[in-house]
Amino acid sequence: MSARDDVAAACRRLAAEGLLVGTAGNVSVRVRDLVAVTASGVVLADCRPHDVVLVDHDGVLVDGGRQPTSELGLHLGVYADRPTVGAVVHTHAPWSTAVACVLDELPVLHYQQLLLGGAVRVAPYATFGSAALATSVRAALEDRQAALMANHGSVAVGAGLDQAVEHAVLLEWLAALHHRASALGTPRVLTDAEQEDVVRAVLSRGYGTVPPTPEENIL
Ligand SMILES: [Zn+2]
Repeated sequence: MSARDDVAAACRRLAAEGLLVGTAGNVSVRVRDLVAVTASGVVLADCRPHDVVLVDHDGVLVDGGRQPTSELGLHLGVYADRPTVGAVVHTHAPWSTAVACVLDELPVLHYQQLLLGGAVRVAPYATFGSAALATSVRAALEDRQAALMANHGSVAVGAGLDQAVEHAVLLEWLAALHHRASALGTPRVLTDAEQEDVVRAVLSRGYGTVPPTPEENIL
């Protein structure tokens, strides 16, 4: 399987999970000194390898007959910031986008959110494809595996495509959980001590024989 096949397959999976609508969203994977990224205007549910282009880390098109996504600057910026990130997923997933229209931060209601590093920040709104948006999202991603983009959508990262997709799906589940819990009353947020206990419990069950790095799952 080539990187282009992998990116196309990741897009189709995200669409099957209900996270993609039409041409909205983009996916990339780092391939040594290049990045394979979805082209602009692709219907991602039908994404095929020829819908994925190769660029270098300056954004120069290396291979492919189409223009890369308008959010290329965001993808390349994340790779520059985080050497251990191997894939980036951006979606306009319904629950994630709804949360990003209201909250400044998605609090930790469920311990699974610790897979994303804790409370998920919402980056301030800026026009799609702008340098300002890329800058604010990169800041929101610090020490996290995902971020929300105000009035826009979500972004998730991972060591590889599978993990980045898993993180995007998890964030969407957590956003829906927040909505449902809020409909019942004021959600109870896990305290810092409760979150630390979760990490300790994970380590004591043997998942922590190798100290987790920021890019590794701890749960
Ligand atoms: Zn977008």
